[in-house]
Amino acid sequence: MLTLQGVSKRFEQLVAVDDLSLTVQAGQLVGLVGPNGSGKSTLLNVIAGALAADHGHIHFAGHDITRSSAAEIFQFGLARSFQDPSLFGRMSVLDNMLLPVKGQLGERPTQAPWRRRWLPQEYQFARQANAELRQVQLQKHYDNQASDLSGGQMKLLALSRTLMGAPQLLLLDEPTAGVAPALAYAIFERIADLRRNQGLTFLIVEHRLEILFEFVDYVYVMHLGRIIAQGTPAEIEANAQVREVYFGE
Ligand code: ADP
Ligand code: MG
Repeated sequence: MLTLQGVSKRFEQLVAVDDLSLTVQAGQLVGLVGPNGSGKSTLLNVIAGALAADHGHIHFAGHDITRSSAAEIFQFGLARSFQDPSLFGRMSVLDNMLLPVKGQLGERPTQAPWRRRWLPQEYQFARQANAELRQVQLQKHYDNQASDLSGGQMKLLALSRTLMGAPQLLLLDEPTAGVAPALAYAIFERIADLRRNQGLTFLIVEHRLEILFEFVDYVYVMHLGRIIAQGTPAEIEANAQVREVYFGE
């Protein structure tokens, strides 16, 4: 579903992503781990089209997206969430949910003046948003400002919002950062459920290896912009080079 071949991204002197290749198969749950500053967020930005790759090729779902814009890549079915939840704090929870919905008639200048043309569709999207919010116990907060949510609730809203764009592949940047352990576990349960029941594919950057390794099929380890190891969670746990980078053993 996603293939990177020899992808590089440089910030002046610093090579943040260095000749990197990886693959994510459809329906897989893949982890991307590595110390702070190893280039994980930069890599997600390059895949999602927020940053242009300097070298290499990126393919997603049959499209060469190496030179595609972030908007085009999103239309192809790739959605991402951010390390900080990046919600619109002064918009309601429901309005945040409705932002990424594709094909909204009310957004078209030729349709917008006629409420009756788009209202049924908007009700339908609102019902869909409500069903997603119910999954993460946020439905009673639908009319609250997003900035009034707790940190954990914001992470849940960010994940739920990503789903409203009907993606096939989700890139999640630290979906449990700053969240209490029990809720972090619940977030991964939700991700596993989405993979199982909706066939969604995930590439997840995560620092909590003990939780991540319980859920993912495959792990890539990044260090100084490169993949230094890859394998199943059991293989990664047993890898001496990974232990050295992570724990200084
Ligand atoms: P990670 O997500 O693994 O912690 P990042 O991708 O955020 O790592 O950062 C990788 C390296 O690139 C770091 O040294 C960081 O300081 C640098 N970096 C990230 N974004 C930029 C930028 N926009 N301009 C310059 N340097 C950047
Ligand atoms: Mg990061």
